Amino acid sequence: LLHLMNASKCYGSNRAAWNASLRVARGEILVLLGPSGSGKSTILKLIAGLEDLDDGQVWLNGQNIGHLPPEQRGIGMVFQDYALFSHMTALQNVMFALHRQPRPRRPKMALEHLAMLGMADFAQRYPHQLSGGQQQRVAVARTFASAPQLILLDEPFSSIDESMRAHARQEIRAILRQSGLGVVMVTHDCTEALSFADTICVMNQGTIIQTATPQDIYLHPANAFVASFIAPTN
Ligand code: ATP
Ligand code: MG
Repeated sequence: LLHLMNASKCYGSNRAAWNASLRVARGEILVLLGPSGSGKSTILKLIAGLEDLDDGQVWLNGQNIGHLPPEQRGIGMVFQDYALFSHMTALQNVMFALHRQPRPRRPKMALEHLAMLGMADFAQRYPHQLSGGQQQRVAVARTFASAPQLILLDEPFSSIDESMRAHARQEIRAILRQSGLGVVMVTHDCTEALSFADTICVMNQGTIIQTATPQDIYLHPANAFVASFIAPTN
């Protein structure tokens, strides 16, 4: 579904991403794992088209999309802070992503997307009247509503209360699974990566160091950096 080939991006003399390659199949959940500043968000922005590649290519469904603007790529992105429109209700937020649908159909479709995330009862609430986890679900519903082929999630659980995180993770994972879409998720949390991913790419200093299943990363880290990053710290 997605093939990122030898992607590089520099900010001035800073190599944010260097010669990064990855593939995502339909229905696959790939997690980019690495410390702060390792280039995880940069990779997502290159895939989404929010930043231009210095070098490399992005292919989606056999089409080179590197030159397309973000809105023509068929890719949905959920940001760390969810970025809901604060002056719109949950329902209006989801309807916003349905702008290509005939206007009379939008409310019912939006409600169906909210219901899929268990948020139908909160349709008339504004973002500030929702918890972090509820806002996140509305953001995911809005992304689904835009009918993407691929979903990108940047640290989607970081604003959720620690005690709720494992539960939120499980729920969202099940929903992503059911959707059968390709998923790329960013995190710096090893536990999250190990429990969420089909495939993990470990990043450090702009480079993808190892790509493997959670089990292989855990049992056979490619080098000392991966080993120390994966090792339980407590
Ligand atoms: P975090 O876990 O803290 O979100 P990250 O892995 O997502 O980190 P990136 O945001 O991809 O890291 O940043 C990679 C590097 O590129 C960092 O050194 C960062 O300072 C730099 N960088 C990112 N965006 C810009 C920008 N717009 N201008 C200049 N430098 C940038
Ligand atoms: Mg980031």
